[in-house]
Amino acid sequence: MDRAVTRNWRAATQAVRGGTWRSEHGETSEALFLTSGYTYEDAQTVADRFAGEADGMTYSRLQNPTVAMLEERIALLEGAEACRAQASGMAAMTAALLCQVSTGDHVVAARAAFGSCRWLVDHLLPRFGVETTVIDSAVDAEWEQAIRPNTKVFFFETPANPTLDVVDLKHVCDLARAHGITTVVDNAFASPALQRPMEFGADVVAYSATKLMDGQGRVLAGAVCGSQQWIDEVLLPFQRNTGPNISPFNAWVVHKGLETLSLRAHHQSKSAVALGEFLEPRIAKAGGEMRHPGLPSHPRHQLAVAQMEATGPIFAFDVGSRSRAFAILDALELIDISNNIGDARSLMCHPASTTHASMSEEARAEMGVTEGLLRINVGLEDIEDLTEDMDRALKAAGV
Ligand SMILES: *Cc1c(COP(=O)(O)O)cnc(C)c1O
Repeated sequence: MDRAVTRNWRAATQAVRGGTWRSEHGETSEALFLTSGYTYEDAQTVADRFAGEADGMTYSRLQNPTVAMLEERIALLEGAEACRAQASGMAAMTAALLCQVSTGDHVVAARAAFGSCRWLVDHLLPRFGVETTVIDSAVDAEWEQAIRPNTKVFFFETPANPTLDVVDLKHVCDLARAHGITTVVDNAFASPALQRPMEFGADVVAYSATKLMDGQGRVLAGAVCGSQQWIDEVLLPFQRNTGPNISPFNAWVVHKGLETLSLRAHHQSKSAVALGEFLEPRIAKAGGEMRHPGLPSHPRHQLAVAQMEATGPIFAFDVGSRSRAFAILDALELIDISNNIGDARSLMCHPASTTHASMSEEARAEMGVTEGLLRINVGLEDIEDLTEDMDRALKAAGV
C-alpha cells in the first residue's frame, strides 16, 4: 500500500486527504479491507512482525488498513500524535479510563455527563477499588478542591450532555498538569472541527464517533487520541488484549463522514444558534430556561465562543414539566423524536426518560436533568422549516 505522505496541510485539506493509503489499484476513495487476518510470503516475515521487528499487519484486533486510515485522519484533525479507533463511544471512554487506573487510584469527574459515562464513574470504577468524586465541572474551584494525593485522572465533557455545561479547558488542564493528573476529555459534542482540547493542554481526547464524525446516523464508532507514548504504552496493551476494536466497515463509514465534518458542524452550529434565538423569548415567556452555549444567556457563553470555533448543533431547554415536554415532542412533524445527536437530521429527545433514565432521580436533579428538559440536535434541514415545525409544536403544547 502507498501511504500518502502526511504534509503540513490545514484541517480542511486533512479532512479529505489525510489518512489515505492507496493500494496498487490507485483507487480514489479509500478501500474497505474487510479482513480479520493476513497471509505472509514466508515464515520469517510473520515471525519478524510478531517480534515487532518488521512493519506489517498480523491480525485485525491489532491492525487493519481501513481502521488505520481512520485513525490517521482523526489524529491529523485533532492535532494529536496518535489515535486508536474503538467500537463505540462507550468502548472509547471505558478503554481510556480502565487502561490507566488501578485499585487505590482516584478519579475526579464532571457530574453533568452522558448517562453511561456517569455509570462508569459511579458503578464500574468503584467495583475495582478506584475511588471517584463527581463535581460541578463548571465551577473552576471545585476541581482543585477535589484533588487528593492519589488523584490519577480528570474526566469530563464540554459542552456536557445534556445540560450543556461548559468546562474551562485551559484552567482544568493546567491544574491537572501541575498535579501530574491525566485529563481525559470526552469531546463528542464538539468534534475536532469545533474544539481541539489538546490546544488547551488536554492529554487524552476521547470520542463517540457515532455522533458528528459519522454525522449521518449510520454506525456506532469511537476513538481515543493521545501522545504516541501514551497510546503505545498505556492504551495499546489494554486495547490489544481486551479487543474493543471497531469493525473495518464502520471505520470506513466514519472515514467518509470526516470528509464533510467541518462543513456540517459549522452549518449545524449556525442553524442551532438561529433556532435558539427563535425559541428563547417563547421559552422565557413560559417560565422556562434555555441552555445554549451559543446564546449570551448561557452563563459561560464567552468561554464557549473563546474555546470553540462554533458552539455545535446541540442545545437544551426546559419547559417546566414532563407533560409539556412530551406534548411538544408529540406535536413535531419534521423534527424526529430520537435520542441520537450529531446527525444531519434534526432530532429531539427527553433526557430524563431516555438517555439519563437509568440514573437515580437524585443524581438527575443534581446534574440538572429536569423533568421538563428537552434536548435538540439541529440538522441540515432548511432553518425556516425547522422554525415552523418548532412554532407549531410549541403552540400545540400551549407554550
Ligand atoms: C453518545 C455519547 C457517548 C457514547 O457514545 P456511543 O457511541 O453511543 O457509545 C459518550 N459521551 C457522550 C458525550 C455522548 O454524547
